[in-house]
Amino acid sequence: MGSRLPPMPKISEIVKLYRLSATKKLSQNFLLDTNVCHKFVKCISLKRGAHVCEVGPGPGGITRALLESDVDEVHVIEKDSRFMEPLEALKVASSDRLKVHLGDAKYFEYLNVFPPAYARPWQRSTPNIHIVGNLPFNVSLGLLLQWLEQISNRSGPWEYGRVPLTLTFQEEVAKRILAKVDSNDRCKLSIMCQYLCKIRYKYHIPGKVFVPAPKVDAAVVSLEPLRTPHICQPYSVVKKVTATIFHYRQKHIKNGAKDLFPVSMDGLVDEFFTRSDVDPTKQSFSLTMAEWERLCETYAYLCKLYPGLSDYNYRAPGAKNTQALAPAPGGLSVEDLK
Ligand code: SAM
Repeated sequence: MGSRLPPMPKISEIVKLYRLSATKKLSQNFLLDTNVCHKFVKCISLKRGAHVCEVGPGPGGITRALLESDVDEVHVIEKDSRFMEPLEALKVASSDRLKVHLGDAKYFEYLNVFPPAYARPWQRSTPNIHIVGNLPFNVSLGLLLQWLEQISNRSGPWEYGRVPLTLTFQEEVAKRILAKVDSNDRCKLSIMCQYLCKIRYKYHIPGKVFVPAPKVDAAVVSLEPLRTPHICQPYSVVKKVTATIFHYRQKHIKNGAKDLFPVSMDGLVDEFFTRSDVDPTKQSFSLTMAEWERLCETYAYLCKLYPGLSDYNYRAPGAKNTQALAPAPGGLSVEDLK
């Protein structure tokens, strides 16, 4: 371990000292054991001089382990103001290597947090920047989806390059994130994560390690943005195609695909499968990433051919009566066909 912090009360003592009992409403489950917190930090494989952003530090168990490693600076974003006092004490103990932000990680402006010199071109190695956190399970999943969209646009923290994420999830969610073709856990989330990132299952955390213990176990998962995503289409296209097709999980994929097109244009369903060279009688969880890529590419092509198709939502009121859309005047240019 790198830096030594001056002797401080244990995190469990801090929780008692500041009366920081976990709040059910915020789904707070703390990691108070020093070894458990160091294990989390060790699995991030931090390089000397790293800048780390930790979301949801709570009383600061993981934060302290981070500050005891070789990182240069740690930014924490915490929503619950009760934790400001112990985090500020940790800031002083770390000679200001810790920067404390009170706020919601969902709306936080990450862009000016890291030094511009740490940015790396997307095609190069990952920057020495990490986003990490043990958040409430429902929050980490919502944030992950928001971050995947930013990864696909290379916006927010990903303006610095391929910043990796290390996060805890409910074990069941971790399985879905990592699920391979033909697995029972394969779902929209698997495709959304895997088309953009290299994902690693780091380790299992039994529920009993948290205070208070949740009913379920957890897992630490890392996601490293890929240099080239497996699907080179806008995030909105991949989201729509995967969500619509996974909707009828146990049926042939042609059932879900029908919902991508107005009833008045149902001839496009056959064209969709012929053009993408995917068997319409397969099931969604057996599709390979290459097949998803072709389906998304074909859907994007048809959206260009029929302006307005991308806005079509089969769930919208009156969607059944949608008139057939007119093709783009003059067809598509060579650029559009790329
Ligand atoms: N990381 C600490 C640990 O391992 O002991 C705390 C874990 S607790 C499961 C999650 C923490 O995230 C809580 O402190 C909670 O207040 C905070 N939190 C929840 N939602 C948040 C949000 N949207 N933005 C920032 N912090 C959040």
